[in-house]
Order: sequence, then structure tokens, then C-alpha cells
Amino acid sequence: MNGNVHIGKLFGIKINLHYTWFLVFFLLAWALSSGYFPERLPGKEAYVYGILGALASLLLFASVLLHELSHSLVALKNKIKVSSITLFFFGGVAQVNEDNFTPNKELKVAIAGPIMSLFLGGLFFALSKFSGVYIGAVFGYLAFVNLILGGFNLVPGFPLDGGRVLRAILWKKWGDINRATYVAAEGGKMFAIFLIIIGVLGIFFGRIDLWYILLGLFLYSIAKNSYKQTVVSNILKESKVKEYMQTKYKALDASMPVSGFDFKKLMSYDQWVYPVLSGKKVIGVALQQQIEKAKAADGTRKILEVTIPIHKIKSVSPEDTCIKAYELMIMQRIELLPVIANGKVAGVIKAATLNELFSMAAVKADAENKAKRKIKQ
Ligand SMILES: [Zn+2]
Repeated sequence: MNGNVHIGKLFGIKINLHYTWFLVFFLLAWALSSGYFPERLPGKEAYVYGILGALASLLLFASVLLHELSHSLVALKNKIKVSSITLFFFGGVAQVNEDNFTPNKELKVAIAGPIMSLFLGGLFFALSKFSGVYIGAVFGYLAFVNLILGGFNLVPGFPLDGGRVLRAILWKKWGDINRATYVAAEGGKMFAIFLIIIGVLGIFFGRIDLWYILLGLFLYSIAKNSYKQTVVSNILKESKVKEYMQTKYKALDASMPVSGFDFKKLMSYDQWVYPVLSGKKVIGVALQQQIEKAKAADGTRKILEVTIPIHKIKSVSPEDTCIKAYELMIMQRIELLPVIANGKVAGVIKAATLNELFSMAAVKADAENKAKRKIKQ
């Protein structure tokens, strides 16, 4: 699964490691054992630093896992599904289903992570005071990093946890998730720009620390997209397939030879995927590309031979939401889905139609929010 290694399950949640995790794990262990620990505890043998570095790295990733688990368990307690936790890079992502979020639930889920990190920071600090020299140094490091993690995540800029908290508060106050996301994402952009400025200033002072610049750019792009994503997914959640499906579409007969397929004549349907009929029954869909390929190879082959059977396609019903239709299309890499009602094809829904719906919605919502902001100022 896209560069992820599945390592197990906790509380029914899949735990994955992204391949960047391995890279960062070894880089961090190496940096700690060649720089940080020799500075703290000079004059020890190299293997001691190696063990301390590896131990500190492992415990740091355990801390990040606990941060994500904390989000996830609060979500589960609020009856929100969590499918997986993926650890990568210097952080993690819990796949939380946000469909049933309310402002209160989002607030609880968002704050749970930083609270865990701050708690771990305090715990490791206390432990470091009661431990021997070696373990004390490891715990001291973990206390420091967990406090930074907790503090950093509390910055009120979306997509950071603090930004989610801010969004939840504004959402509750205004009753408008789009506007709340807009403001929280503006906070995220400001923080991202601040990080980039620190990084650039560092260069002038002879400290080349690209980390700030990269992190800033990364946060900026997520903050910028998150607002549109929220608006668009909300619109799609509210729209039903029946409002956007087309009842005028072209279907192909399963028994037709592929040589009979003439795309030029079908241009007006603007379709690249065709429902395939056997009599009046829909038995699957055929892709234009596949038909053309078969036609070039052997024109006598039947449409049936290039048909993807209906039981292999996840189709939608008119009452399904557009977001479900869109997700199914992306998952199945198909640009059109048959809409099935009572075992019959009621119409088709196209990715192009939904794409248009998104961009119109995003532009509209953007304009509305800019207008709202002007009135406020
Ligand atoms: Zn978090």
C-alpha cells in the first residue's frame, strides 16, 4: 500500500510505517549517537552512544505513536471511525473519518494529541531526574522533544492540531465550518510564512537550516488546500447522485463486435466509459481505450470480451452522496459509474460532472469568504 509497511493492529486500528520512517529512524539514531550524546556524556565508548541513539529514536517514535493513538482513542470514544495510523517522517497521521464530526468532537479529538505529548514531556522530565546517567540523558532528550512536539502542534494554524482546535471553536461560534476552516487555514499560512522567514534569516546569520523552510512550504501548501477540500467535500456530502446523474447516456450491446464501435459517432455523449447491456440488463462497463485496443487487434471480438463485469464494479444508487461516487471512481480509476436503482440502470454519473461541481463550489465559497472578511474588517 503506497509505501506503507503494515506492522500490526492496536484497538482495531491498523498501524503502518511509511518508508520515510525507516530513513528518518536511522538518520536520527545516527545523529544522536554521533552528535547529541557524545556532547552530553563525553568520553564514553562508541557502542554506548550507538545504543543510546537507537533507544532514544525508538522511544521518540513510540511517543509519536502515543500522540496519534491519543487522537484515535478519543475519536473512537466519540463513535468516530479510525481506520489507520501511519507513522512517517517526524510525525504521524491518524486516518479519522471526519464525516460525523461536530465542533465539540473535533475539539476533543484535536486537543488529545498535544495533551499526550505535553504529558509525555513532563513524564520523561520527571523520569530523567530519577534515572542513572545514561538513561537519564535519553529521558532528558525525550522530555525536550515531546514538549516541542506538544507546543508546536498547539500553534493555532490549520492543519496543525491547534488549528483544528481553533476551527472547532469558530465553527461552534459561527455555525459555518467553511468560514471557520478559512480563518484557521489563514493562521496556518501565517505560521508557515513565519517558519520560512526564520529559515531565510538563519541563512543571513550563517546558519543554513533548510528544515524550517521545507516545513514552512509543506505547511503552507496543506493550509492552502485544506480550505478548498473542506468546502468541496461538504458540498459533495450534501449533494445526491440523483441530482447530478445523467439519464441520457450511451450504452453498448454485449454481442456487438468491437469493429462496430465508432467513437466519432458517439462524441456528442462525451463518454469514455460505456454501460454494457445484454438485452435490457446491464452486465458491466467497457472502457473506450480497451475497445479501441481490441478493435486494432481483432475486430471480430465482442464487446462482452472487454467488459468489466458489474459485480466487479462498485456502483452507486441515486440516493448515495456525490462524495461516495467520487471516492469510488478514484478508487476504481474509472471516470463513470452506472447508477443502479432496483437492479436497473437509472443513469450514469461522470467524474467530469463532479469535477465541475467542485471547481464551481470552490470558487463560489472563496468569493463568499473574501466578501465576509471585508465586511468584518
Ligand atoms: Zn496531532
